[in-house]
Amino acid sequence: MVGGIIKLLLAFVSCVALLCGVPACAQKGVAGEPLEVCILRDIGGMDPAALIHQPRRFDCDTEQYRFGPGDYWVISQEIDRPSHPHLPLNVRVASLWQQSLTLQILYADGSIDAQTTDARGITPLLQLGAIAEHPLPARQSKIVRLLWHVEGAANLRGILLGARLSTAAESAHANLTMAALYAGFAGLALALIIYNLALWGALRHRFQLYYCLMVALLLAYTFSTSGALAWAWPEIANNTRLRTNFLLLGATGTAALVFARSFFEERIFAGWLGRYATMVGFATSGVGLFYFLTAPFAIGLTDTAFTCSFIALSAAVFPLLWRAWRLRSNYLWLFAFAWGAPILTAALRALANLHLIRWGFWIDNSTILAMMIEAVVSSLAVAYRIKLLRSERDDAIEREVMMRRLADTDPLTGLLNRRAFLNQAIGRSGEQLLLIIDLDHFKRVNETLGHDGGDEVLRVFARMLRTSVPQGTLVARIGGEEFAILTPVDAPVEPEAVLARLRQMRMPFDIQVTASIGTCRGTLNSEIEWKALYRIADSALFDAKSAGRDRVRHALREAA
Ligand code: GH3
Ligand code: MG
Ligand code: MG
Repeated sequence: MVGGIIKLLLAFVSCVALLCGVPACAQKGVAGEPLEVCILRDIGGMDPAALIHQPRRFDCDTEQYRFGPGDYWVISQEIDRPSHPHLPLNVRVASLWQQSLTLQILYADGSIDAQTTDARGITPLLQLGAIAEHPLPARQSKIVRLLWHVEGAANLRGILLGARLSTAAESAHANLTMAALYAGFAGLALALIIYNLALWGALRHRFQLYYCLMVALLLAYTFSTSGALAWAWPEIANNTRLRTNFLLLGATGTAALVFARSFFEERIFAGWLGRYATMVGFATSGVGLFYFLTAPFAIGLTDTAFTCSFIALSAAVFPLLWRAWRLRSNYLWLFAFAWGAPILTAALRALANLHLIRWGFWIDNSTILAMMIEAVVSSLAVAYRIKLLRSERDDAIEREVMMRRLADTDPLTGLLNRRAFLNQAIGRSGEQLLLIIDLDHFKRVNETLGHDGGDEVLRVFARMLRTSVPQGTLVARIGGEEFAILTPVDAPVEPEAVLARLRQMRMPFDIQVTASIGTCRGTLNSEIEWKALYRIADSALFDAKSAGRDRVRHALREAA
């Protein structure tokens, strides 16, 4: 058990180390030269050619989200870098809700190049990680500055976020890193779905199905939020893709709650916590659906409501863990271990949405990283569960063997009982020798030693029988002080030897105990043959008793 836990911990630590390495190397995924940007509200009738020369008119200090929704001009810091034909530059920005985006590029020779997105918005520009990438046309002269015109910005987190200049090589590297990250997650998620379904076939725990549903929804969310959806469906408007993100994330939240409810014992969610979970479950997917259907209507309010529903979801964890601990749930530690990271990142994202901490590319993508940790822990948990199942199965087999042995055993002597003896005797192949042994004057033994003393005599006698017969011999207590021995005739037990050994045995209070034996040989292919054989051996025993006891009488089957 302890070894298992240590192995589990080691595996967990190495997986976490591996996963922590991913963001470190994927930092290159957002690498390139960060660009400072400043904001100016568009009050109409403004000329970009003039504005791009007037950076001082822009506000560089106020945080972007404070400007609220609307149309804006966004200007970059001075760049002073060329975009050469053999080393072209791109500018990368985060994908945000907006009606259209126009980019003006001012070159050192005074020329300005303008690029406008169409009705699809930035969809054609999307790279993995939902980063919009504008190629900056190559010219001989250096690029001085960039100016964006953002129309219909919802400005929930900002107007233009995460601007960076990158070379083609840096962009390719970033895409590759993100592809590795998302593909890694997708592979883990698919594997989790497949082997949870496979395991469901054996275990039939309903939570396994909910877990698969949740992972599938999360996979769909990842597909959409990563921008891969835009590659698969280039016609989709980027704002529609953003709406889809909300729909899928909301549904994932609900599925996570439904999963948690069926994962824990029923008592954990009894009462108000169950009602609260139902409410939050409806809220996350309800608000997600509302956003999907109505955005940009009241988009700021809906977004805040969505954030609040996820805060409420994360908050449910505290009473949940408290109850699980107090009511001694079997699943507390597993749940805390696996879900610690996703819940923490949900809380982080909520804080970022409420502008309590700064927005960042990794906060935006943290759900995927956290779920990778969860996926790895879940895989280990599934593996552990399989191990438990195996030992449960082994225990059950062992218990069954024990039960059968108990049911077959005479409790006083440990020999076979009559039923087990018959089961094993009937059907033995070849001719058999049956000995029926009855202790002489056992009533007297009881009178002399008391009933307990008599029991002890029976035990001592049984032990002698058991230890003195060859392997494969059946030895049973078939009545009070009556025993049976069955051996193949070619490896017989000598009845005279049994009697001789009994005569020499030390019994309680040194009393002398003797027995009489009747024998008979024959086949035992059916119950009828057993009855016949037993009857003859028993009559031989009667003869031995009549002839004065402490002796053997053989009978022939034919004699009957
Ligand atoms: P015989 O030589 O004719 O066999 O005489 P017997 O006294 O042994 O024969 P009988 O069948 O009349 O009595 C058997 C006695 O064995 C009666 C019963 O009290 C005793 N007995 C049966 N089962 C047990 C047991 O489990 N423990 C003890 N201590 N005595 C038992
Ligand atoms: Mg007797
Ligand atoms: Mg008897």
